[in-house]
Amino acid sequence: MTPARPAPEFKAPDFTALLSDRARRMSASAIREILKITQQPDIISFAGGLPAPELFPVEDVRRATDNVLTKYGPAALQYSTTEGHPPLRQWIGSRAGIPAANVQIVTGSQQALDLLGKILISEGDTVLVEAPTYLGALQSFQPYGPNYVQMPTDDGGIDLDALEKILKTTPAKLLYAVPNFQNPTGRTLNAERRRRLVELTGQYGVLVIEDDPYGQLRFTGEAAPSLYELGLEYAGDVDSSHIIYCSSFSKTLVPGLRDAWVQAAAPIISKLVQAKQGADLHTPTLNQMIVTELLDDVLPRQIETVKKAYGERAGIMLGHIKQQFPGGVEYTTPEGGMFLWVTLPQGLDSTQMLVRALTRNVAYVPGSPFFALGGGENTLRLSYSSATPEQIETGIKALGETIREAMD
Ligand code: PMP
Repeated sequence: MTPARPAPEFKAPDFTALLSDRARRMSASAIREILKITQQPDIISFAGGLPAPELFPVEDVRRATDNVLTKYGPAALQYSTTEGHPPLRQWIGSRAGIPAANVQIVTGSQQALDLLGKILISEGDTVLVEAPTYLGALQSFQPYGPNYVQMPTDDGGIDLDALEKILKTTPAKLLYAVPNFQNPTGRTLNAERRRRLVELTGQYGVLVIEDDPYGQLRFTGEAAPSLYELGLEYAGDVDSSHIIYCSSFSKTLVPGLRDAWVQAAAPIISKLVQAKQGADLHTPTLNQMIVTELLDDVLPRQIETVKKAYGERAGIMLGHIKQQFPGGVEYTTPEGGMFLWVTLPQGLDSTQMLVRALTRNVAYVPGSPFFALGGGENTLRLSYSSATPEQIETGIKALGETIREAMD
């Protein structure tokens, strides 16, 4: 068959002009382009932030897939409910001490951020974000047209005095935070501030999205209660809580199955269900069943393995940083998770410095894109999760030399 020829008057559409206002608010990241170079095999990359693939429980997933197909047959491959696989929701709910009805399964917590943006952010709504914050949350929220206000942070997380001042003058709708081992800084919001944050936001009628993909990966120190737990205490009832909690099996089990969840009050869950129906109907049935199969024995074992490995890698990286980085460079000491954050002396630009770092075969992510309203030109994020001790030693030495050169 010969292909149809376009009519003589046909002109290719002006795709840019046809884009929605929402699409126009999305932007490609220049840094992503630079970081493509980091995929070359001779580059030691602390940029990626991927979970360590050599720790993935491949054989357990194989066995679980087989079990699930035997147990459920075609039902494992059928469409299923938008809310999620009931046994998985029950397990999550019982661990959190809430009904399964308050748990929504999502396709990665990234989907939770998009759907929450969709159901909560109208154009111009004020959204409070940490400075810096998770870049992927900004990407999810941005199309819905938020008006960001940055909350200053320090080693204890969000500065609550600053937050109180903001709340007194700015009618905010939503606060987004990563309280445990934050991406990008590795910092944790301390216990006292958590209580005050829950009280302040409750008082001012602000909804809170607590994004917690790393909370289970604490390798040192004491865990603080989640904002969600404190929110239940504060509200006295799961369906009155102003805290929306998101977590994921991506960092504890495997990211590729894209299984994650939201815990929230019933009115939020029911809107999420409608939004998710329009997005993907449901999270893949088979994947949810596989994860459920792994909850009791593989997941706890896997969490121990990952915590131990990341704790060792963080320790090695911090040790080399101490030896190799010049005075005047500051860095965070994470108690869990996958990242640490470096602050170079004022005046240095980590985006410009990346080019020099790449000539020394080491890569990181410059910090400024993690700031919703700009800033942080002298900061950068390092990930230790998927590097070997040798790579960490060589890479940190090369980065130390790069920083010295830039300081000179
Ligand atoms: N939130 C934070 C803070 C993250 O770091 C990530 C992953 N980089 C996500 C959400 C998304 O994770 P996933 O979609 O794999 O659950």
